[in-house]
Amino acid sequence: MKRALNFNAGPAALPEAVLAKAEKEMMNYRSSGMGVMELSHRSKEFEDINEQTMNLMRSLLSIPDDYEILFLQGGASLQFTMVPMNLLEEGSSASYVLTGTWAEKALKEAQKIGNAVIAASSKDVNYRSIPSTSKFDIPDDSSYLHITTNNTIYGTQWHSFPESLPTPLVADMSSDILSRPLNLSSFGLIYAGAQKNLGPSGVTVVIIHKDLLKRSKTGLPSMLNYQVQAASKSLYNTPPTLSIYFLKLVLEWAEALGGVKQLEMMNKEKAALLYDAIDRSDGFYKGHAEKPSRSLMNITFTLANEDLTSAFLQEAEESGFIGLAGHRSVGGCRASTYNAVPFENVEKLADFMNRFRNRN
Ligand code: PMP
Repeated sequence: MKRALNFNAGPAALPEAVLAKAEKEMMNYRSSGMGVMELSHRSKEFEDINEQTMNLMRSLLSIPDDYEILFLQGGASLQFTMVPMNLLEEGSSASYVLTGTWAEKALKEAQKIGNAVIAASSKDVNYRSIPSTSKFDIPDDSSYLHITTNNTIYGTQWHSFPESLPTPLVADMSSDILSRPLNLSSFGLIYAGAQKNLGPSGVTVVIIHKDLLKRSKTGLPSMLNYQVQAASKSLYNTPPTLSIYFLKLVLEWAEALGGVKQLEMMNKEKAALLYDAIDRSDGFYKGHAEKPSRSLMNITFTLANEDLTSAFLQEAEESGFIGLAGHRSVGGCRASTYNAVPFENVEKLADFMNRFRNRN
């Protein structure tokens, strides 16, 4: 069977080995006579899946014991609301670094909950770069500082993180979690929708320092309360069982490959193929991000004009490449090369880009 050359931004490509395993277990999970999505979420089988998935996450990302791992629903977008609901303390403010559309949305939702302000922004340069830490303006009373570690739409990524901050660091890692090693001790909370590097959509991973859990007030709606979710091991209500099962398969795949260090190396190699095609094109392709802020996950570029862009996208589609149009808000082109996108597919795309340039 021919698989697509999938460069979607999310939901995105899953490892073939994961799909094959899920297919094998679809009708009869471990002799239960049921598929995973038919199991009760209170069954021993599913409780094992839940726990093993958390353990895999902990070991792959070296998550210390003083952090809780939660599997929630509502996507990263619900975290835009849950973070300020739980962490923004009375009489204080929340600080946001604006590096793109998702950061803007996170700020907008926080402002509905309380006082949220901009600590730094790269909007003035059309989000081509990550603002320098030295320019941060964090109010003394800030409850936390929120960043977006990879900007899916603009194709920029933080390659180092602010240290010794006066306030806990909160990060939306939706589009680069599990793509590289992580020193979690720099962070108070991280969150990520699964549908890029972790699995299918439907589950959102939240990793939170236990100290921050104490901030959740009892008056919060239970489903939106981190403390309630942590106390019930994310089984407060019916969880997205199938998505969590897939997350487990993806984490097992990542572990067998050699873990996040290996994934980071592979991601660097893939991104380099495309950035080389851009940089060696004599300006035929222009990268959107400034070089030091380039993302290893979403490679964004433009061509000289609309006609050429349409021709590029159309020929790419005819050649079997999927998902190369830039986000509808910015246009241009974007190739998402998440963990599960095979090196050979990226090689084919780089070849295609070179051939298209030679012809035009
Ligand atoms: N943050 C980032 C960085 C994203 O890329 C996305 C989705 N593309 C979101 C948040 C929103 O995620 P969701 O659709 O899971 O709410």
